[in-house]
Amino acid sequence: MPAEYYYVTKQTDQTNFHLLHRRGCIKLPPPNSLVFIGSLYNSLQALTVAKVRFGENVKTCYFCCLSHPQKKQR
Ligand SMILES: [Zn+2]
Repeated sequence: MPAEYYYVTKQTDQTNFHLLHRRGCIKLPPPNSLVFIGSLYNSLQALTVAKVRFGENVKTCYFCCLSHPQKKQR
C-alpha cells in the first residue's frame, strides 16, 4: 500500500480546529497555508501524527479523508 502525503492547515477554522488534508484534495488550501506532516498510510495514522504536533484540535477533511475515525453525532 503506497503512502500518501498529508497536510494540516496552519490556521484554525471557526470552531478552532485545524483541518487534515490529503494531497490532491479538491478543497486543499494554498501551499503557504499548509504544514506538511508526513507520508502516511491512512488518515487515522495521519490524524495521530497531526495531533502530536498541533494538539487535540485537529479534524479530518470531509472531502479527502472519508474514513472518519469517529463519527460525531449532533
Ligand atoms: Zn481535504
